[in-house]
Amino acid sequence: MNILVLGSGGREHTLTWKIAQSPRVTKLFVAPGNAGTAGIAENVAMSVNDFDAIGKFSVENNIDMVVVGPEDPLVNGIHDYFLNDDVLKGIHVIGPQKEAAELEGSKEFAKKFMMRHNIPTAAYESFTKETVEAGCEFLTTLQPPYVLKADGLAAGKGVLIINDLQEAQDSLREMLVDAKFGNASTKVVIEEFLDGIELSCFVVTDGKNYVTLPTAKDYKRIGEGDTGLNTGGMGAVSPVPFADAEFMEKIESRIIKPTIDGFQKDSLPYKGFVFIGLIKVGNDPFVIEYNVRMGDPETEVVIPRLENDLVDILEAVGTQSLNTIDVKIKKEAATTIMVVSGGYPEAYEKGKEITGIQTIEDAIVFHAGTKLDGEKVVTNGGRVIAITSYADTYEDAIKKSYQSIAKLHFDKMYYRKDIGFDL
Ligand code: ATP
Repeated sequence: MNILVLGSGGREHTLTWKIAQSPRVTKLFVAPGNAGTAGIAENVAMSVNDFDAIGKFSVENNIDMVVVGPEDPLVNGIHDYFLNDDVLKGIHVIGPQKEAAELEGSKEFAKKFMMRHNIPTAAYESFTKETVEAGCEFLTTLQPPYVLKADGLAAGKGVLIINDLQEAQDSLREMLVDAKFGNASTKVVIEEFLDGIELSCFVVTDGKNYVTLPTAKDYKRIGEGDTGLNTGGMGAVSPVPFADAEFMEKIESRIIKPTIDGFQKDSLPYKGFVFIGLIKVGNDPFVIEYNVRMGDPETEVVIPRLENDLVDILEAVGTQSLNTIDVKIKKEAATTIMVVSGGYPEAYEKGKEITGIQTIEDAIVFHAGTKLDGEKVVTNGGRVIAITSYADTYEDAIKKSYQSIAKLHFDKMYYRKDIGFDL
């Protein structure tokens, strides 16, 4: 089978690493990829949003399956692009069609979906420029902190959590009237604040059947003790120790099943990964968000724990036969620590030589923002490398990841030293 993976982060290196282990793969391509994917597949210089180029490449290279890493091409309709073309429609695209990708593309769409299918989530109302004053009034009926969410994609920056009522009202006006987040804040969802601990669960669905992947917890803030600015994610652990069997049963019956049934009831065309961001309030799970793709860095701990051939699972997604798949998960815990460029998530420099990668033996090195510069591997982004380790306990896995990081070096490299310490 010839497979094309779209994306260039740690998530895509991990998916490519797993797919490359399958004896069923003949040719494996990644567009645009990074220095890590270059070692195990062929990188292709194509943008993930250039559907014409991706379609042409797929035909010329007899691609059987396209695995979409990031949300952007899904929200922009890459799956529909393939289905609407007589030649491309036979290729399996892993990722939902545009209509279903709205679960991530629009927070209001996701909230309405959850309400319709009785899936537990925070109470909410949504507002536009025309109803901004009603929105300010609505805020007075809530208890602080106030949660304001730009409806559209805002690169993880569109959610504001504000303690002061006046400030929340001012921010609402800025979002709706002054278009603080551009088109993404044409609508704003205001929701009840849920106080609890976050975790994520991952499901693969063919639109009818589903299989559940391991849970994970990520660490979003740049600073230790979860302080400072939000990032794409600084580390992750899997499984989540506080998600015991009883809690998992609640997630399955109250959230996963109604979500997949909801896709069918609403005729939402969904073949791909579902990332469900959850919050545990007391002993009950609530949905914070849906993402229509895997998370990064959660993929770096979830996928390595999967014992199955990933190509078997993804093919079953394409042929709607996931009911034939029995997912097997490694008992060992996995942890990943993200190594980032100094300055990230604000301004940082690129092009720094990374040394020591070859000396790491006891962990898996997943590349994120890296590229090849001749023989050298250099930094090419904010998040640079994820170091994943396994062990019988997550404490030991974390230790191993930190021991491996000590062998890595580049100018101004930074990582959090407390991943998993709160568990
Ligand atoms: P991401 O960066 O994960 O893509 P996003 O911009 O899509 O995030 P959400 O995941 O909806 O937005 O919210 C971002 C973060 O804000 C959540 O991870 C959570 O920490 C916090 N949050 C969101 N909604 C609530 C809520 N109702 N109560 C408490 N905290 C919340």
